Amino acid sequence: MAVEPASPITTRTIGPGAFSGTALRGDFPVFDAPTRQGKRLVYLDAAASSPKPRAVIEALADAYAHHYANVHRGIYELSEDATARFEGARRRVAGFIGAPSEREIVFVRNATEAINLVAYSWGRTNLSPGDRLLTTQLEHHANIVPWQQLTAEVGATLEYVAITDDGRLDMDDLAAKLANGPKLLALAQVSNALGTINPVAEITEMAHRAGALVLVDAAQSAPHMPIDVRQIGCDFLALSGHKMLGPSGIGILWGRRELLDAMPPFMTGGSMIIRVTLEGAEFNEVPYRFEAGTPAIAEAIGLGAAIDYLDALGMDNVREHERLLFERAWAALGEIPGVRRLGPDDPDTHAGVISFVLDGIHPHDVATVFDHEGVAVRAGHHCAMPVMTRYDLPATTRASFYLYNDTDDVDALTDAVRATQQVFGG
Ligand code: PLP
Repeated sequence: MAVEPASPITTRTIGPGAFSGTALRGDFPVFDAPTRQGKRLVYLDAAASSPKPRAVIEALADAYAHHYANVHRGIYELSEDATARFEGARRRVAGFIGAPSEREIVFVRNATEAINLVAYSWGRTNLSPGDRLLTTQLEHHANIVPWQQLTAEVGATLEYVAITDDGRLDMDDLAAKLANGPKLLALAQVSNALGTINPVAEITEMAHRAGALVLVDAAQSAPHMPIDVRQIGCDFLALSGHKMLGPSGIGILWGRRELLDAMPPFMTGGSMIIRVTLEGAEFNEVPYRFEAGTPAIAEAIGLGAAIDYLDALGMDNVREHERLLFERAWAALGEIPGVRRLGPDDPDTHAGVISFVLDGIHPHDVATVFDHEGVAVRAGHHCAMPVMTRYDLPATTRASFYLYNDTDDVDALTDAVRATQQVFGG
């Protein structure tokens, strides 16, 4: 169903889904200018970071220009105004992810910091020598390294759920490793390296039955599909604003209130205290206890504007749009000899991220030719080196779609693949 979005979003049902990606491009200033080669910019790297719509850029500029002061401390109009806008963004985030209360929303810098916060605060309080933690081979390094550090420090064991040949979590291995009694399972809802969508609600249920808490890394899912922490049933959720049209420097940790309440601070200093004496300090309540120092005020307000933009489009529509682009691109790439696609075949379990390799051509060379064609993709290990190891690859080329992409971008992708093969004599 087409939505009637609030201004300033431009939609029209001429694209493959509920709105036209081509029309939405008009909202993103980055698409106004041609590339160095004089080509139309075909941006297929949303998984790394997304472009910003004018509404977000203007909200950020407006916050700095007219509503900026430090928050939670000024007894004057401007500070009260900034505080109201900052806290309003917190409420918007809570609504966006279905959190029962905005008090469960902690502003952090990014998903990496959110995961580290849990590893430091929850982990160092709740893990003892001999305990187990579980993550998966499918994760971004941000959801591996903090757990490696934690378990090494505490003397606990870290295990990894294996992945299948087509890039899904091996559910038998998951069940077997849950039976070992891990205290926490940390997993991504969507893999940044392969695009796999994990059934996080089902997995959370399995983990809870086994007595494990669940942290969902939503860095690649929150920007692209409806998220509801109550429906997932998880205990913690991490996301980054910059991947969902928002500014960089702002991210979210959501945690169940009783868990956050029981966790000690991660960083200490101003804002996170109620009282300080020379003998000690009394800490503030959540979420402020986890927000030491001056936060990213305008960036939080910008994230609120990004959420308004996404909400106006409808996250179901965003998901449907990307699903159609995925199906088209997956099929088109499959028809080109010499292209190996990674990840699940099924559009229900594959987000708008396609990792692929071209026979005999290094992904860095692929990305270089693509750049010449105006097509921006990521080439490398995608901060998921264990995934590369699993498939015995040094790197892949990754094309990731978002709401401003359309079928012309899919055509540009396949044209760029053919151009690359031609350059390298394929
Ligand atoms: N988790 C996943 C699945 C990601 O794709 C990323 C970034 O690409 C991160 C975590 C880390 O995000 P950030 O660098 O914004 O902290």
